[in-house]
Amino acid sequence: LSKENVVLRVDDLQKSFGGLVATDHATFEVERGTITGLIGPNGAGKSTIFNLISGFYEPDAGRVEVNGTDVTGAEPYEVADHGLIRTFQTPRKLEGMTVREAMLVGPRKQPGESFVKLFTSPGEVAESESRNLADAQRILEEFEIDHLATQPATDLSGGQMKLVELARAMLAEPEVLLLDEPVAGVNPTLRNKLAEQVRRLNEQGTTFLLIEHDMEFVMNLADPVVVLDRGSVLMEGTPDEVQSDDRVVEAYLGG
Ligand code: ADP
Ligand code: MG
Repeated sequence: LSKENVVLRVDDLQKSFGGLVATDHATFEVERGTITGLIGPNGAGKSTIFNLISGFYEPDAGRVEVNGTDVTGAEPYEVADHGLIRTFQTPRKLEGMTVREAMLVGPRKQPGESFVKLFTSPGEVAESESRNLADAQRILEEFEIDHLATQPATDLSGGQMKLVELARAMLAEPEVLLLDEPVAGVNPTLRNKLAEQVRRLNEQGTTFLLIEHDMEFVMNLADPVVVLDRGSVLMEGTPDEVQSDDRVVEAYLGG
């Protein structure tokens, strides 16, 4: 891949937790304009890689580049300023906020699970970020969830929450968006809606790196697909290549 076409480069990344090696010399690239899949068995290190890329964890060694800029060890907001935004496998708690307010607090300022504490009150959030109100409304409409705008964010179903999470991420207008299991626990109707939105946003220019356990979902959307096993890249290929590879079958079934 030529340099301009690489929107994200993960180079020889390493991360251990105590004696456990979660990321083991992981190396791969994400080409601009793609929906790149990231799959692997439970515990393979997929979410850890997202945390390393997006600045939530600091790698022990290795390098992360976004749009050609070294962002290794940078803070999440700095990585976001370079055009990379991520969602969480478990959406963060949005207590005391309506969906509209939740849209307005994120996710350029996303310091993880405790981010709500940064603000004195949801009311202040809405006021200080009122210039984004029109954008938030437009995106909620595009996602066909504008009818939820005034509902408490805690009242949403798991699937609606995932859609709101994606909508919030889009408000930051990222060049590259990392989705961590966007359809886990989501019903088929909302799953299709999410797939449609990802496809539409991709056609409009957003690059995606997509972790997903639902093989049908990921194989229909993503190309190429990167396979992670025990913290390392096992292989990369088209959905067909990946699905017919013995090593992949073995990583999922046994090993
Ligand atoms: P995946 O998302 O592929 O299921 P994870 O990246 O969540 O895998 O986890 C990979 C390994 O790293 C697991 O063994 C997990 O328990 C461990 N791990 C992840 N985050 C932490 C952490 N903050 N502290 C300790 N161990 C962790
Ligand atoms: Mg995970």
